[in-house]
Amino acid sequence: MNIIVCMKQVPDTNEVRINQETGTLIRDGVPSIMNPDDKNAIEGALALKDLHGGHVTILCMGPPQARDALNEALAMGADEAILLSDRAFAGSDTWATSTILAAAIEAIGNYDIVFCGRQAIDGDTAQVGPETAEFLNIPQVTYVKDIKLEGDKVQVTRYTEYGDYVMEVKTPLMLTAIKELNEPRLPSVRGIFKAYSEDNVKVWTMDNLKIDPTQIGLKGSPTNVFRSFVPVKEKNSHIIEGLNGKEKAAALIGKLSDLKLI
Ligand SMILES: Cc1cc2nc3c(=O)[nH]c(=O)nc-3n(C[C@H](O)[C@H](O)[C@H](O)COP(=O)(O)OP(=O)(O)OC[C@H]3O[C@@H](n4cnc5c(N)ncnc54)[C@H](O)[C@@H]3O)c2cc1C
Repeated sequence: MNIIVCMKQVPDTNEVRINQETGTLIRDGVPSIMNPDDKNAIEGALALKDLHGGHVTILCMGPPQARDALNEALAMGADEAILLSDRAFAGSDTWATSTILAAAIEAIGNYDIVFCGRQAIDGDTAQVGPETAEFLNIPQVTYVKDIKLEGDKVQVTRYTEYGDYVMEVKTPLMLTAIKELNEPRLPSVRGIFKAYSEDNVKVWTMDNLKIDPTQIGLKGSPTNVFRSFVPVKEKNSHIIEGLNGKEKAAALIGKLSDLKLI
């Protein structure tokens, strides 16, 4: 079983700060981490490998410092790590990112499962997994919370707000992982030592991919961001004081009545 996991390195924050003048992310002083859902995707791949054998390759498009997250994935137990890094990739939106990831997956070839996280905590679009599956022309199941393998069929449980769907899909396929899928393992001490001392991360550029340069980077990105901003907080909270519920309810009614809301 050959499994490829797409993993993104993201800023370690949910409170993304934006430079008001340039509209770009302020990355200075913000440490980078492996995207949380992608850790679940990696664990999902490693758990399948533990049960059925196989090879797990991690794919990450990003700047040179993303090598760190790839070494973390190797320390967790992945077999191979590839960093897609080229100036031509800079400025890519989700369409262009998926084009590059799909080209890299085609170049690796002979895969059974491609895993993505459901969503990245910085871009937050949840588009890259489904778009990559479309470019590869393979079936996809998103919001995956359980996986069982039987021959060339995968039984997948998909979380929805109305209840869980259990479905059977043939490989090759794309799965996007949510945190309910598993508890990601910690890298072993031996794994950390091996990964960081050997640093076996391969770097791929445009030269490794069959790709139309007009479909990637800023020029190949159909999305235009007109403005990015953090909404200004205009509301203040007010704590209703009181010894017990009755007193607090009376104080709340008084306040609402002062404001002529009741
Ligand atoms: C016009 C425009 C220009 C942009 N320019 C830049 C730029 O210069 N630099 C920049 O960093 N970002 C840039 N971005 C943001 C970039 O498009 C997104 O970071 C990227 O496409 C991923 O989208 P997302 O974060 O919403 O991921 P989601 O779709 O939420 O991610 C879902 C899953 O896809 C996989 N995935 C996503 N991204 C990657 C990746 N890079 N490598 C491997 N797997 C991945 C992961 O498994 C992840 O869990 C730009 C966006 C736009 C619209």
